[in-house]
Amino acid sequence: SKKQETCEFKTEVQQLLHLIINSLYSNREIFIRELISNASDAIDKARFREQTEPALFEGDNDYHIRVSTDPEKKVFEISDNGIGMTYDEVNDNIGTIAKSGTKAFMEALERSRDEKTLTPELIGQFGVGFYSAFIAAEHITLVTKAAGADEGVKWESDGKGSYTIETVEKESRGTTITLKLKTPEEGDQDFTDEYTIRHIVKKHSDFVTYPIIMNVEKSEPIPDEELIKDSDGKPVGDTFRKIHSDETLNSMKAIWAKSKDEVTEKEYEEFYKHISHNWDKPLEILHKKFEGVTEYDALLFIPSKAPFDLFRPERKHGMQLYCKRVFIMDDCKELLPEYLGFIQGVVDAPDLNLNVSREILQEDRLVRNIRKNLVKKIFSMLEEMDKEKYEEFYKEFGQALKSGLPMDYENKERIASLLRYKSTKSDGKYITLDEYIEKMPEDQKEIYYITGENMNALINSPLLEALKAKDYEVLLMVDPVDEWVTQSLPEYKEKKLKSAEKGELDLDKVDDEKKNEYTALFKFIEEKLEDKVKEVVVSNRLKESVSCLSADDYAMSAYMEKILKASGQ
Ligand code: ADP
Ligand code: MG
Repeated sequence: SKKQETCEFKTEVQQLLHLIINSLYSNREIFIRELISNASDAIDKARFREQTEPALFEGDNDYHIRVSTDPEKKVFEISDNGIGMTYDEVNDNIGTIAKSGTKAFMEALERSRDEKTLTPELIGQFGVGFYSAFIAAEHITLVTKAAGADEGVKWESDGKGSYTIETVEKESRGTTITLKLKTPEEGDQDFTDEYTIRHIVKKHSDFVTYPIIMNVEKSEPIPDEELIKDSDGKPVGDTFRKIHSDETLNSMKAIWAKSKDEVTEKEYEEFYKHISHNWDKPLEILHKKFEGVTEYDALLFIPSKAPFDLFRPERKHGMQLYCKRVFIMDDCKELLPEYLGFIQGVVDAPDLNLNVSREILQEDRLVRNIRKNLVKKIFSMLEEMDKEKYEEFYKEFGQALKSGLPMDYENKERIASLLRYKSTKSDGKYITLDEYIEKMPEDQKEIYYITGENMNALINSPLLEALKAKDYEVLLMVDPVDEWVTQSLPEYKEKKLKSAEKGELDLDKVDDEKKNEYTALFKFIEEKLEDKVKEVVVSNRLKESVSCLSADDYAMSAYMEKILKASGQ
């Protein structure tokens, strides 16, 4: 059925496009990488679907991406025979930023607007990849046909407020995106130039697992028998001629399958950008061939920045699963525990069944084995990181680690040993729980901590007076997630974790006679404060201050109460 509409872009898309179109942009070529990456994703999806519905793909499963240009008409075009899109999918995927991250993106956008530059990190991190084509294009036409669909869809826009969408005839499955390029300014790259494109593809997309093909002009020597020769037998005129032929621009090498010394740092970085959709450099790389009963390759990256949506349940995991270099699936949550879901990477397990489904994966013994080994390796890697680098990691992903404490019983001790806290004695520096224990005075039995929002307020808290007087160190926990740490880690290396603000402190006991002197006073205060406090008692917490608020051992800390209140509970 014939459909045609003109639609306004959603406000946030308009703002985004306005920014992309009008920004000074130092790295314009990245739009090619984004379009190639979308094509590659679309083919991944086709391949995955083909496992269950092979008939849909019959006769057209020679997957590839094709790039072509027309220098005269200033056109750059990219097509794929991937999954394609239906009418509604085009509207959903291309007409809006249908991402959970939209809001966070718009906030980041505001910030960058102040700075008058659109940073490439922004585009990569928030997955606004397709729109980056407007960096170079003044007009974009997208024609696509979904697997199994009868008709195609054409989407067109100049990025200024609206787009048109209509059903059209399209012969083959997949997507073709045609950019009418802006008139280049002095010094701009020419995106119709073959060598420019070769260079860009090589640089950003070399390891894409499908061939990126371009029909290129080559010169070849004219065969001897076809040469025109003079009477002496010397050739007259050209000895070379121009021919056109398809050439695959990328090497498609699976860098995870190579040995470490065969891969350059630059290649690791580009590959990381490709799979993570990030623009930063990875903080750490783990590349290992696991050998034993089963063999597999793993290439994992720790990003240098936490994503804005780290704790959103709908967030995709960063692991991809391959079997003998053939993509099986991304977002593979079975390969790493939830709390390590920020790690980006690839596992290639030759012994897996290619037709494996997500449901089967959960039960698969091989996968469970891989997961266990990966976690072990990741912990060793974190434990071996130098102090500075680890703290950088901890700043970004410490919360994620902490969230693993209540979940990963087996590795609890290991996670705990990776925790870092500032303390009343650490002079603003991070210490480990082991360091804390090491320095404990002889008579100290427990690990003391206090939770709150503000480091300074905590250090000066009257709750700590008695502990300070005894020269006991107190860990200062200012991260909301720390509440869950203290709940799931009652002790570490046989030392109880004890809140400095809850319950009785097992310090020098106040003698009973003295307590009785105050009974009347306390009754009076309790009455005055009515239901605001549970009871008024003598405290062995205080040395100088007159009074303080504290909680029962099993009650919520003041800070926890505040968090819950803030979240509306
Ligand atoms: P992302 O790739 O991070 O999802 P993009 O802005 O690059 O974000 O693409 C938006 C969406 O448009 C993709 O998620 C996909 O659904 C769709 N899309 C883009 N390009 C293609 C393509 N070549 N084939 C099929 N779908 C595509
Ligand atoms: Mg994309």
